[in-house]
Amino acid sequence: LIDFRDTPDEADFRNRLRAWVADVLPTIQLPSSVDEHDRAEGPWHRLLYSGGWVGLSWPEKYGGRGLEATYEAILSDVLSEAGAPPPPAIGFLGRALQMYGSEDQKERFLPGLLSGEVQWCQGFSEPDAGSDLASLRTRAIRDGDVYKVAGQKVWTSRASWADWCLLLVRTDPDVRKHAGISCLVVDMRSRGIEVRPLLQITGSTRFAEVFFDEVEVPLDQRIGEEGEGWTIAMTTVKYERGPADIGAIAKDRRALGRLEEMQEHDLLPDSAPQVLGHLYMQIEVLRLHVLAGLSRRVLTGGAGAETSVDKLLMIRTEQRLGHAALQLLGSSICQGEDQDWAFNYLHSRAASIYGGTEQIQKGIVATQILGLPRS
Ligand SMILES: Cc1cc2nc3c(=O)[nH]c(=O)nc-3n(C[C@H](O)[C@H](O)[C@H](O)COP(=O)(O)OP(=O)(O)OC[C@H]3O[C@@H](n4cnc5c(N)ncnc54)[C@H](O)[C@@H]3O)c2cc1C
Repeated sequence: LIDFRDTPDEADFRNRLRAWVADVLPTIQLPSSVDEHDRAEGPWHRLLYSGGWVGLSWPEKYGGRGLEATYEAILSDVLSEAGAPPPPAIGFLGRALQMYGSEDQKERFLPGLLSGEVQWCQGFSEPDAGSDLASLRTRAIRDGDVYKVAGQKVWTSRASWADWCLLLVRTDPDVRKHAGISCLVVDMRSRGIEVRPLLQITGSTRFAEVFFDEVEVPLDQRIGEEGEGWTIAMTTVKYERGPADIGAIAKDRRALGRLEEMQEHDLLPDSAPQVLGHLYMQIEVLRLHVLAGLSRRVLTGGAGAETSVDKLLMIRTEQRLGHAALQLLGSSICQGEDQDWAFNYLHSRAASIYGGTEQIQKGIVATQILGLPRS
């Protein structure tokens, strides 16, 4: 039986965090445009770090607090509930460096990643290698004590302002495609890198194309062994942010609460109660599934295929919320000062693509949870 309530320690943590957020939030200027939002990430990361709220589940020897994943989820929940920006997305990068980096690399890269002094991006996807990531073609050839990297990445979030990139490259074209991939950390200011921002439908230029023209990367910036890149990527993408880590539930509840308030003031059409009822149920199903997954993670220590179910429930909830707002509020969501609805509606379209598409998640559920044969 799962108890979905906070333990006394968790409740105490939640209260202290709420008090901290209530203190600092009025002192910072919340971003008002999409671009401001993107640029505010670094300062917000550093502020959270100064309060001791970053790296909660990181081992203490790497500067973290050694707490369970539940505390990261409480952090996201409290921030989201207060309308604050989400915590920084460093869990996956941290795992890659902690699990596969040498002691020197950990000492060199982990402190800046944790404190937010150094910003990172993730260079995996390419024009012909998204879902089929193992087909990536950006190549790295050894030349003395450097790799020379040539090729192109795409959809690289934060590339325009990141200092470092965790990059997947092909170091051996002659072996099975999964076995020829390696993982490098690359200084984004290296000669030969060109970043071309891409405009998203939301107005953000948060992601970019990144071109590599014989970029020199020292050999000691390879993470793990040559040919180990695929294992590193697949082990650590499980720690990419799921619904719990982005505060999706609190955010969805806030949005639903705003619609319910309008309903109470008779500002919505007659169809509203049914639409809002469905949304309430969906958010509850998402919440309970995410909490059950967190309990399992605490008990078993790892993230498993059930995170794909969380992701599918999150996609459905976010996209239905966006649709509901459009259905109930009509074109007014695109006018006036409050453009949040329009932004969230447009942004929710990306939920079924990033971090593994909806179809890929369904494939994982089919083969790894339901035990259906691979097609
Ligand atoms: C907002 C956003 C941020 C992103 N940030 C980053 C980032 O920081 N770094 C990075 O490396 N990448 C990033 N990505 C890229 C993302 O990982 C890819 O878009 C995603 O993996 C899908 O790849 P693709 O776009 O090439 O689509 P494709 O893989 O070409 O897929 C096209 C369609 O075919 C379907 N499809 C493909 N293969 C299968 C299959 N085997 N079974 C069933 N259906 C299938 C897909 O579901 C999809 O509907 C980001 C994407 C978005 C939207």
